[in-house]
Amino acid sequence: MSRFHLLAGAALACAAAVAAQAQAPAAATSSASLNIYSARHYQTDEALYDGFTRATGIKINRVDADDAGLLARLKTEGASSPADVILLVDASRLWRAEVDGLFQPVKSQALETRIPAALRGKDEGQGSSWFGMSTRARVIVYNKAKVARDEVDTYEELGEAKNKGRVCTRSGSHPYNLSLFGALHEHWGAQTTQRWLTGMVDNMARSPKGGDTDQIMAVASGECSVALTNTYYLARLMRSQKPQDREAVEKVGVVFPNQSSFGTHVNIAGAAVARNAKNPQAARQFLEYLASDAAQQHFADGNNEWPVVSTLKIDNPALVALGKFKAETTPVSVIGMNQIPVQRMLDRVGYK
Ligand code: FE
Repeated sequence: MSRFHLLAGAALACAAAVAAQAQAPAAATSSASLNIYSARHYQTDEALYDGFTRATGIKINRVDADDAGLLARLKTEGASSPADVILLVDASRLWRAEVDGLFQPVKSQALETRIPAALRGKDEGQGSSWFGMSTRARVIVYNKAKVARDEVDTYEELGEAKNKGRVCTRSGSHPYNLSLFGALHEHWGAQTTQRWLTGMVDNMARSPKGGDTDQIMAVASGECSVALTNTYYLARLMRSQKPQDREAVEKVGVVFPNQSSFGTHVNIAGAAVARNAKNPQAARQFLEYLASDAAQQHFADGNNEWPVVSTLKIDNPALVALGKFKAETTPVSVIGMNQIPVQRMLDRVGYK
């Protein structure tokens, strides 16, 4: 079988699996259920979905995969896609899906009032293509016994020779890193960015592996001294009841990098109505629910993300402890476009 056939076979299997999962809603009345394709990989979100069903009586069917997997699936399914709502956890993936025409614009007074324009997709008069629902910062964690805070309080320093052998990192091609690097590329230009990525590779304590929590744990154990992580992984450990998590957090310091220059990189998790949604009404209702006080409070309490609704009071002790910080503000479309040269640089410098 040729490679093409193998791929086509996999795509058909995918479509069949989705169709199977979508059977129930197709049989039900159109307003009674909603199909969500979600890249949110957070157990605590169950309460979020339950809250919507309780409030509206609309049942949720969910397909879980990572951002890239969902986008590939949507493209394969085309007009026959059962997806109503798409949840993604990275700004440039939201941008990519918008560019690829996978979303439909949503006009909603409630969403426009509650979500700042910088956290929404493009609007050509018929409403925004996607809506940010929560944010997370990409911060630096360091081993307090091994590193002085001022050696690692900028992204620049992670690539400098003084941090040789100290850096742990997840894959450079993971969306969280690609979006960060895309933003840095905008501040520094191509030459400096590639030099920095080369420095990152030179400074690695081990080959890139694992997720953000694994990087924090490796810093705590002393396997490496410094790493990048999204804030919610850190906050989750800060609030954990497990003794080993609390011990790890004790050993780790956290820095919001670049506070005296352009600020710390912030990424967006967001929602959109699928281009071929069979139930756009309920989909819009779900987006409005995500922007409600109750759901926004859940993003903060349940998954340790910052809500996008600025009037909300945050009680989460970990988020309160992390405090206020200066965020960098590269437009999402720029971050998205910069990922193309950044990915080429990663290949060139051998950042796996
Ligand atoms: Fe994550």
